[in-house]
Amino acid sequence: MTLAPTAPASTVQWDSELIRRYNQNGPRYTSYPSALQFSDEFDKAAYIQGWRGGDAHGPLSLYVHIPFCARLCYYCACNKVITKDRRRSHTYLQYLRKEMSKYAKLIGKQRTVTQMHWGGGTPTFLNDAEMSQLVQMLREHFQLLPTSDDSREYAIEIDPRSLELDSVPLLAELGFNRMSIGVQDFDPQVQRAVNRIQSFELTMSVMEVARAHGFGSINLDLIYGLPHQTVTRFQETLAKVISLKPERLSLFNYAHLPHVFKPQRSIAPETLPTPEEKLAILHGAIDTLQAVGYRYIGMDHFALGTDSLAIAQDEGKLHRNFQGYSTQSGCDLLGLGVSAISNLGTSYAQNLKELDDYYAALDQDQWPIWRGYRSNADDNLRRDVIMGLICHGRLDCAAVAKAYSIDFYDYFAPEVHALGPMQKDGLIEWQGDVLSITPRGRLLLRNVCTLFDRYLPLIPRERYSKMI
Ligand code: SF4
Repeated sequence: MTLAPTAPASTVQWDSELIRRYNQNGPRYTSYPSALQFSDEFDKAAYIQGWRGGDAHGPLSLYVHIPFCARLCYYCACNKVITKDRRRSHTYLQYLRKEMSKYAKLIGKQRTVTQMHWGGGTPTFLNDAEMSQLVQMLREHFQLLPTSDDSREYAIEIDPRSLELDSVPLLAELGFNRMSIGVQDFDPQVQRAVNRIQSFELTMSVMEVARAHGFGSINLDLIYGLPHQTVTRFQETLAKVISLKPERLSLFNYAHLPHVFKPQRSIAPETLPTPEEKLAILHGAIDTLQAVGYRYIGMDHFALGTDSLAIAQDEGKLHRNFQGYSTQSGCDLLGLGVSAISNLGTSYAQNLKELDDYYAALDQDQWPIWRGYRSNADDNLRRDVIMGLICHGRLDCAAVAKAYSIDFYDYFAPEVHALGPMQKDGLIEWQGDVLSITPRGRLLLRNVCTLFDRYLPLIPRERYSKMI
């Protein structure tokens, strides 16, 4: 169901005192329940059966995970394999073929792939021939849209350091029309400290060629909280970013957890900005981006008002999935490749995380699934509440009550009670049955969502990142 608002509350008003008080660790809600609830005792057979018996004609979303990277970025917390051995991607493609062929036998080719995303790792670790081969394989097994169909959203994550400019037109020919480019920071000292040297000119060249070849919505990824960043230096990066006019921007918080993510041990803690400086960097960034016309969509994401994400938010059609915000709803998501996550109806499934295990399962003609989760009725209700808040900053509680045949205030009595202090602090407000996040509460949106998360008390908060 869609719990659509009448208008989004998109402006952010900075309130240092509130942020200091409310800034805790919490899930990012790319799913509800979060992946920490997934279990290896999940009924894989029933899940697989669901693909066979699923909606045979509904749209399909594909995610393809390419785990390889040629170089290690020290801040990285992704599931990746660092290698210079280019033969490894050749082998990997053979296994992707095995996996997609297993699913294609169940799903058939009736379902149109309206959305596709290649993520990593580094999808552009693949050379031109391999990218063409992978698209060809996908076309053999699934119903991809032709490049003449502008309704498709086919996105690829780009590392400009591992992509020849001549390959960009090929990406367009292969059907991609959206790209997300990793930048993080243009400052040379920051780049050296995180082992990711990538010039402004290189990023600009990729964007120019991409635009000339029809890429309509380009996202740049930035990170705040990296070593040697200061307010002034990050503003210099932002000025360069703004000059490139990306339609979308992601501004992620760097969480320094060297005991969890080994690569981060190469970052000297004394080079990191203090918590106060980090907040000042974020504050400055939000003010600057809003001043030049970027809208805060929510949860680290910004978009120009003319971009489809902002328009979808205006129209109450925004959705959230494992890749962040999306304009498309109602798609089952099939994740292919090591560690990839799928979402079929109300079930989630994640593939094996280690490459050798993923290969071994497919060699034995097994489904390479590690763990998963099947939602119950309460999960579905809470998922709609949380996603409504995250996507639109508003929740029509009467509409929720009607859709789920519940008395909202009775069902969520403890949650509504817990909203009291947030209302007093100005994070939220009530207009009749409509709960809205205020501009002061926008950055603390996750705090409001956590109140409706039944599983949060069961999981140590340290397993999640800081909200800001
Ligand atoms: S940040 Fe991206 S490119 Fe860098 S090592 Fe991690 S996955 Fe690879």
